[in-house]
Amino acid sequence: MSDSFDVIVIGGGPAGYPAAIRAGQNKLSVACIDEWKNPDGICAFGGTCLNAGCIPSKALLESTELYHRAHEEFAAHGIKAPDVTMDVGQMQKRKAGIVKTMTQGILALFKAAGVTPLQGHGKLLSGHRVEFVAHDGTRRELTAKNIILASGSAPVELRSAPFQSPQIVDSWGALEFPSVPKRLGVIGAGVIGLELGSVWRRLGSEVVMLEALPDFLAVADGQVGKEALRHFKKLGMDIRLGAKVTGAKVAGEAVDVTYTDVKGEQKLTVDRLVVAIGRRPYTKDLLGPETGVELDERGFIKVDHQCKTGAEGIWAVGDCVRGPMLAHKGKEEGAMVADLIAGNFAEVNYKTVPSVVYTAPEIAWVGLTEEQVKAQGKAYKVGVFPFLASGRARRLFHHTSAVAGRSRPHRRPHGGRSARRRHEPRGRGPYQGWAGGGVREGGPRD
Ligand code: FAD
Ligand code: AMP
Repeated sequence: MSDSFDVIVIGGGPAGYPAAIRAGQNKLSVACIDEWKNPDGICAFGGTCLNAGCIPSKALLESTELYHRAHEEFAAHGIKAPDVTMDVGQMQKRKAGIVKTMTQGILALFKAAGVTPLQGHGKLLSGHRVEFVAHDGTRRELTAKNIILASGSAPVELRSAPFQSPQIVDSWGALEFPSVPKRLGVIGAGVIGLELGSVWRRLGSEVVMLEALPDFLAVADGQVGKEALRHFKKLGMDIRLGAKVTGAKVAGEAVDVTYTDVKGEQKLTVDRLVVAIGRRPYTKDLLGPETGVELDERGFIKVDHQCKTGAEGIWAVGDCVRGPMLAHKGKEEGAMVADLIAGNFAEVNYKTVPSVVYTAPEIAWVGLTEEQVKAQGKAYKVGVFPFLASGRARRLFHHTSAVAGRSRPHRRPHGGRSARRRHEPRGRGPYQGWAGGGVREGGPRD
């Protein structure tokens, strides 16, 4: 096998493997190095997303949503199924099967695109060289004109609540619970915490979520956050805002958690504790000396808008670089870089990267929130369409009221009066009659 390639990709997650496939499709010779090993010892491409993130979490969300709806909504449809029970082992088996099919699928895609898969550790050396150490310890030095770093991210550990399996776990651990914890604590009510909390709440866990920030889901529009909070509370999740965790100790089978809120120090005992306070870029043993690749103060690999590092021919994509830690963002960057290397035009429009919380109902947003537009002092118009008014949404959900469509900044032609559509009188829209519906304006006044 040749040790020289046009492109070497280090990292086979959703940023790295699409980069490798696109490079192969662009008729470049390419190798993709990945070191992921599952607890059963089996190596698998796909990174966090396929093995321990997006895919397994979505599989569990689907199973538990079906279970929950069977209990909460079947009766309204006239469906009688009084004995619906959950076999957690079977649910986990289904999830594992999906993960296996998807990760093995990457090898098939590599084969079709002519990508050489290399399973083991990759380290960038100076002079466009890569040290590859296979899982069996065999070492090789490889070279490539272009090298793409796609080493991903790892969960952040809370110093005051260090991971201690099986009681105090990260998001991966929370995807692997073999049975439903009676009392479940989740630190961090971000996207991952909410999805995992929902999974186990739907199966009957008493879920307490501790979130340090005073606002709920502050990354989304305020109105969306408020509506979402209502839904999660209705599901029975005990969401405590302004609750900063200061310590967690395993006590026998349980975990004693301490946190502070406006009232002072509080205590909570749970059976399992999930720490979901975010992820950090992962670059352990990735960079040799004098590669010319720099990290920023938060540990992300420094890149420009085209994902070029400071070193010629060295690129970095996905969670290990700035921007939202999302699989589709990484995939776009990977494909862009593979196209740029092949001499094609390519770019990523970071303003259009959507975010989704895959709960029920799902929450999604793209672009600026109303709060961000307001902070920029821009004029804007808010359009609200309640799901209540959508027949399709009503058919889907028994209890429907949530916001469906929201704000959009608007441009004023020639700096003049607002560009309001003529048939919408000020402050009113076609759905004004529905609770929460309509159009309103914000930002600086004329
Ligand atoms: P990773 O997926 O982390 O892959 C990096 C790969 O590189 C890994 O296989 C790693 O072993 C390997 N590697 C690292 N260093 C080396 C080295 N030196 N040599 C060889 N190999 C190396 N995102 C979404 O868009 N939608 C979702 O629904 C979603 N759900 C999520 C749910 C959970 C529970 C979690 C934890 C994450 C979720 N994410 C989701 C985020 C998503 O998983 C990440 O954004 C995505 O995996 C990042 O892709 P990546 O390729 O940059 O890194
Ligand atoms: P995300 O960044 O979407 O993964 O969300 C992580 C969440 O964890 C954020 O909303 C943080 O405010 C929250 N968080 C971080 N540290 C703590 C802590 N010590 N106690 C409670 N919540 C925290």
